[in-house]
Amino acid sequence: MTERAIISDVAPRDGLQSIGPFVPTETKIAMVRALYAAGIRRMEIGSFVSPRAVPQMADTGEVLKAALELPGLESTVLVPNRKGFELAARSGAQRLGLFMSATESHNRSNLNRTREESFADLAAIVQDATAAGLLVRFNLSTVFHCPFEGVVPEEEALGWVERIVALDPGMEIALADTTGNASPDQVRRMFERAHHLWGERFAFHGHDTYGMGVANVSAAWVAGVRIFDSAAGGLGGCPFAPGATGNVATEDVVWLFRRMGVETGIDWKGLLEAADLSAAVPGGTPGGRLRGVPAVRQAA
Ligand code: ZN
Repeated sequence: MTERAIISDVAPRDGLQSIGPFVPTETKIAMVRALYAAGIRRMEIGSFVSPRAVPQMADTGEVLKAALELPGLESTVLVPNRKGFELAARSGAQRLGLFMSATESHNRSNLNRTREESFADLAAIVQDATAAGLLVRFNLSTVFHCPFEGVVPEEEALGWVERIVALDPGMEIALADTTGNASPDQVRRMFERAHHLWGERFAFHGHDTYGMGVANVSAAWVAGVRIFDSAAGGLGGCPFAPGATGNVATEDVVWLFRRMGVETGIDWKGLLEAADLSAAVPGGTPGGRLRGVPAVRQAA
């Protein structure tokens, strides 16, 4: 039996979020359509955050409208708090991506409140979202490494995972390497521990800042993870995590899985086109290796 990996492309959100100049809505929609044409059926479309805090995401509602026209696409929108939830709940998105940080200083810097305050707010949203029939992904940032606190003690991160797990028996939970400074042995160990304690319900969200993006995806796969976030063209960064550059590139991750004989349902030629489009967004910082390998382009 062929094994499968699910890719959720986050280029339209994580990839664009930290770009200074406003990326036109039509460009964002073109990215979503190209990713869909490549066979990607899960995407992080945008974020219902304050447009003052993240002006790049001010048109999430419009991009989402275009995404909702694509049959079979599961659209995720990020929700940091109650206000975002109320907008997202009416938006038509199939899945809400909640988020908070595993470390106190990153949570304060990113969300301007304590982890306890975030958790209390999000716990109530999990209940309300589930009651409204929405899918939920709970993203825990800085699980492995924090830009302010360094390498995160495993017990501290797992303590938060335990509390998040207790909110809902079936909810998908992502452990995120926000800075890209996780090491593969750490990623493998954390997912093995989480799977052993709470079952296979975890996704991996990785960045490639330190060049370990694909190695970390591979380590997470070995530990049993089957759901991965990545961004076409390696586009990415985080305005709240200094030094964090792109998400691990979708094309690098898909090539890894191709070589391993793991099915992703993604068309290679279509993906390269989407990755080229994503990498060419004005003001963006693209990444990834595979777009530049001639033999790989010939395989398309
Ligand atoms: Zn990220």
